[in-house]
Amino acid sequence: MSLIISGGTVVTADGRFQADVRVDGGKITALGLDLAQSGDKIIDASGKYVLPGGIDVHTHLSMPSMGTVTCDDYYTGQVAAAMGGTTTHLDFCIQPKGSSLRAALDIWHGRAKGQAVIDYGFHVAVTDPLPEVLDEIAGLPDQGVTSIKLFLAYKDTLQVDDTAVFRCLERARDAGVLTLVHAENGDAIEILMAEAVARGETAPKYHALTRPPELEAEATGRAIALAEVLGAPLYIVHLSCRPALARVREAQARGARVTAETCTQYFFFTKDDLDCLGFEGAKWVCSPPLREKEDQAALWAAVGDGTLSVISTDHCPFRFDTQKTLGRDNFTLIPNGVPGIEERLMVLHQAGVRGGHFSLERFVALTATNPARSFGLGGVKGAIAPGYDADLALWDLERPHTITAKTNHGAVDYSLYEGMEVRGMPVTVLVRGQTVIDQGRLITERGSGQFLHRQRI
Ligand SMILES: [Zn+2]
Repeated sequence: MSLIISGGTVVTADGRFQADVRVDGGKITALGLDLAQSGDKIIDASGKYVLPGGIDVHTHLSMPSMGTVTCDDYYTGQVAAAMGGTTTHLDFCIQPKGSSLRAALDIWHGRAKGQAVIDYGFHVAVTDPLPEVLDEIAGLPDQGVTSIKLFLAYKDTLQVDDTAVFRCLERARDAGVLTLVHAENGDAIEILMAEAVARGETAPKYHALTRPPELEAEATGRAIALAEVLGAPLYIVHLSCRPALARVREAQARGARVTAETCTQYFFFTKDDLDCLGFEGAKWVCSPPLREKEDQAALWAAVGDGTLSVISTDHCPFRFDTQKTLGRDNFTLIPNGVPGIEERLMVLHQAGVRGGHFSLERFVALTATNPARSFGLGGVKGAIAPGYDADLALWDLERPHTITAKTNHGAVDYSLYEGMEVRGMPVTVLVRGQTVIDQGRLITERGSGQFLHRQRI
């Protein structure tokens, strides 16, 4: 007995076509017309668009940060993801200072174990590059981890110096591991923040003003240069602005192994959103900060022309009522991060596809197919073809929905997109052929999601 997703329009990164999808043992085994045979279980997808489940390669669930912990755990964060049509995410495991990478991964596995409802993997962030820690990089692929992350910002907590960046890039290259960088110049930002506070400039808007785009561009260019010298693959996370984009574009034109993502919020908001009356602007505090209208236009162009190949969320949720308020009197104490794991696909479909920036096929490429290929999940996730996991989102492209924190499913108490009206949302979501969401209801068990052993890059 097979499962047949019957009568829908299948959409891939390359095109769309009418087809049934046959699923056996959690994998797609055939595409074609009229595949159902007697005894098969049928999911009626007529009138629906069948997309690969979304892949969000940049999330922070249950992550300690700035004296608190992101408010979504692996259960609430993944339920929110699934409700929004996302079936796989890659989360950041942060090495505690003095810890081994192995011990850090054990902590993160412990957080996810028994909680997951979608599939997940880890990037490991190297924050304390001791010699024995560098030696561990070669063994990461055997643990299913084929990406590391380095912070060039957050001085005295997460930031690493150029010696560490160079050494890590070299070790990662040799191990078949992709290096991700948070590219902002943390040394200069630290000075700008201290000077602002000393002048009494403590409101949320100063978060953006003390992290100018030039410092993102400088760090982006520096990371690219170090990677290029080594011939190491490099992935720039959450690219937000025109000068950083220019560095990536130049490097790609030279043939450097550089790819980059941006995140949903950078298309929708600007630094002016931090300048609300009262303290409300803290909701929009993330790093790099939200930029200008002109940067939004440049990002739309860059996801269209391929300079940016992935759109992720940097979902890093802190409640407004009890967590963002830690920085009420001083913007440097506002936990950095915004939520978006549930809204990503709906708002990008609305603004990106309906807004005429890219096709539905390109939407699939940016949010599922490219992330899978970039992170060692090619042939397994992110596409609809025989042999792939049956991670599918059935979209009703006409269904209206108003985004509001009241009906969102995560633990955070606000949505950046509050009140935004979209037309088009996922109504049924499957992970490896198992229905996880149906008509807005969660119908899977806690713990059904699996850790992904990813391939070498
Ligand atoms: Zn992040």
